Amino acid sequence: MPAPSPALLSVDLDALAANFRTLERIGGAPAHPVVKADGYGLGAAACAERLMREGARTFFVARTREGEQLRAALGAGPAIYVLDGCLTGRAARLRAADLRPVLNTEAQLAEWRTTGGGRCGLQIDTGMNRLGFRPEQAPEPFAGLDLVLSHLACADDPSEPMNARQRDAFAAAATRYPGTVRSFANSGGVFLGESYAFDALRPGICLYGGGPEGRPDDRIRPVATFTAEVLQVRDVPTGESVGYSRGFVAEAPRRIATVGAGYADGVSRSYSPAGRVWVGGERRPIVGRVSMDVCAVDVTGVQVAVGDSVELFGPNRMLDDAAASAGTVAWELLTSVGARAPRRYVD
Ligand SMILES: *Cc1c(COP(=O)(O)O)cnc(C)c1O
Repeated sequence: MPAPSPALLSVDLDALAANFRTLERIGGAPAHPVVKADGYGLGAAACAERLMREGARTFFVARTREGEQLRAALGAGPAIYVLDGCLTGRAARLRAADLRPVLNTEAQLAEWRTTGGGRCGLQIDTGMNRLGFRPEQAPEPFAGLDLVLSHLACADDPSEPMNARQRDAFAAAATRYPGTVRSFANSGGVFLGESYAFDALRPGICLYGGGPEGRPDDRIRPVATFTAEVLQVRDVPTGESVGYSRGFVAEAPRRIATVGAGYADGVSRSYSPAGRVWVGGERRPIVGRVSMDVCAVDVTGVQVAVGDSVELFGPNRMLDDAAASAGTVAWELLTSVGARAPRRYVD
């Protein structure tokens, strides 16, 4: 358990590396890590550097700016794809940082090619209706095209028939681009079977400790541990309330710990009323409204003192379970950990 701090995100880089190796083994193909949104909140540079030591040579980010920052951190060498593609007026910035846009539309393709072209990717939309060319509108092969990808809409649900439909549509569309790297499976897709792997996996959440089906999975190790410190412990008599708007009223005498993490740190207000944290060796409920800097935890009957560490998620409170109790998903929980919480890397 890391030393207490008002709110701290500890990142276990060995566990990140282990998840990377697990994904490559299960998928049977090289993994190109997705490190968008600052590595799902964990720190893109630190995560990518560690993953390079495991052999990763190609990364995905969403925004041009994320790509610029990652390039500055990693230096020349690794390939960095930008999922947003080549927006109007963006080509020069992409080239200056040696970024490869994932071209999504005719307009993006024209922008990239009329400004000089170069190495890039192409996204085929096989049914998600989000980004990319429809298969029947996919362009002819062209110089510089290194990678073609598509994205699964329901990879977290292996029973969803849309998965196979998308796979087959992608396989068919990709025959147009012989010799181009085909990338299809996100984290969930890695677990759907060999036929989903193609040439390069594109995992995000499972690298960072989320399960492929939105619940904890034995094969994936927790990577991020979000802890905060107990600031004060008090006895609340029957009938008194805790926090804003009398969000919790004690129906019996309760012992309440005020914990130094609030919604500005990523403890969403939607943690109340179902949120649970790990404290004093037990899972205890968050009570009342989460406020900006603190939340209240019912620690009645638990040995808890000022300065003790409370785990909001981590090895004792699995990320997917914490997300579910807050009415959200691991992706959102991780990426909403506030900038105020320092990141600490352990390996
Ligand atoms: C975010 C993203 C991924 C990674 O998805 P996970 O479910 O986190 O593994 C892969 N591909 C694309 C296009 C994405 O936008």
